[in-house]
Amino acid sequence: VSPQISSLRSQGFSPGAKIPLGLKRKSMRILVTGGAGFVGSHLVDRLIERGDSVIVLDNFFTGRKENVMHHFSNPQFEMIRHDVVEPILLEVDQIYHLACPASPVHYKHNPVKTIKTNVVGTLNMLGLAKRVGARFLLTSTSEVYGDPLEHPQRESYWGNVNPIGVRSCYDEGKRTAETLTMDYHRGAGVEVRIARIFNTYGPRMCIDDGRVVSNFVAQALRKEPMTVYGDGKQTRSFQFVSDLVEGLMRLMEGDHVGPFNLGNPGEFTMLELAEVVKEVIDPNARIVFRKNTEDDPHKRKPDISRAKNMLGWEPKISLREGLPMMVDDFRRRVSYDGKEPVK
Ligand code: NAD
Ligand code: UDP
Ligand code: UDP
Repeated sequence: VSPQISSLRSQGFSPGAKIPLGLKRKSMRILVTGGAGFVGSHLVDRLIERGDSVIVLDNFFTGRKENVMHHFSNPQFEMIRHDVVEPILLEVDQIYHLACPASPVHYKHNPVKTIKTNVVGTLNMLGLAKRVGARFLLTSTSEVYGDPLEHPQRESYWGNVNPIGVRSCYDEGKRTAETLTMDYHRGAGVEVRIARIFNTYGPRMCIDDGRVVSNFVAQALRKEPMTVYGDGKQTRSFQFVSDLVEGLMRLMEGDHVGPFNLGNPGEFTMLELAEVVKEVIDPNARIVFRKNTEDDPHKRKPDISRAKNMLGWEPKISLREGLPMMVDDFRRRVSYDGKEPVK
């Protein structure tokens, strides 16, 4: 336990509790790998706002400087262009390990690199955590459940993953990352936390990253038809990014290793999602059906009882509340993409 955390604990603070006014908590040095990406950059905003020093490690495969540029003049913020597959020496108190492409289009682009990032990258960050005594949080995924045979998915479910399919580089990569995390915990006493993140959306997602929410929103704004893969009856549960960031921070500060499902239990078919996008952007938006991708999970919905009970966390923002916030951001950016400007 870092001295800051043990001192807070000895003063009786529980996970997620607000620090009372007048009591100043010592600022921490926090490493966020993948911090220039979608989720990472929102996390960095919260950590900086809380008064901590943040180092972002990112190779900019899917991340963008624009996501964190607003911190460049802040001495508490540092950005290092680095690939987590290579070792690195740093001194930090906590590590949020997010570096890994998350969209199927991106992670399938170079599958061997995706595996290396998940396995060698995670090993390096665990080695670093062990050397400096930092607490380590892994951002794993609901994909560890594969095409689930249990619904909704609880953390006790071991999953139904194809080990040799086109998604395996990500699914099996993250499963191995979880294994490494637990083995460093059991074998080397590293303090670890594991989050299993379900589909998350919000401002700063890559516009053309191929994920369903970003695709539908960009397509509707460009007056292109929304591409529904397969029959559109497969389901996902969509979580707004600020809810996820709150969950990740509570998990890091709390006393429980996990794994914890972090997701919004609101479950939608892709056809229902297209309807919500129509309501928010354009009632005349059209859909077209496209062939589905291989090994696409049929349904996905988190059971979040464990996070509710042990972290005091649950998502607050529904899809209908969160989507407009993402659309505002996409409206500004889609028109700068060199594509057809949005009216
Ligand atoms: P993202 O692609 O926007 O962010 C990933 C970041 O990692 C990018 O900035 C990218 O440049 C960086 N990166 C990738 N490979 C790297 C490497 N080898 N070295 C250094 N940096 C590297 O994706 P995101 O949605 O922000 O996802 C963040 C994390 O959360 C990922 O680990 C992902 O697997 C996990 N996750 C996300 C979701 C979701 O729906 N967004 C769901 C489940 C899990
Ligand atoms: N590592 C790193 N930074 C550190 C400490 C370790 O990048 O500060 C890397 C190290 O190069 C190794 C990995 O993390 O590849 C695992 O380190 P560990 O010490 O656990 O194993 P070992 O080096 O003994 O194989
Ligand atoms: N999907 C879709 N149209 C798109 C992109 C995705 O219908 O333009 C579907 C995809 O087949 C899957 C679901 O949306 O069933 C979620 O896909 P995404 O790539 O967003 O995330 P993941 O499969 O990793 O949950």
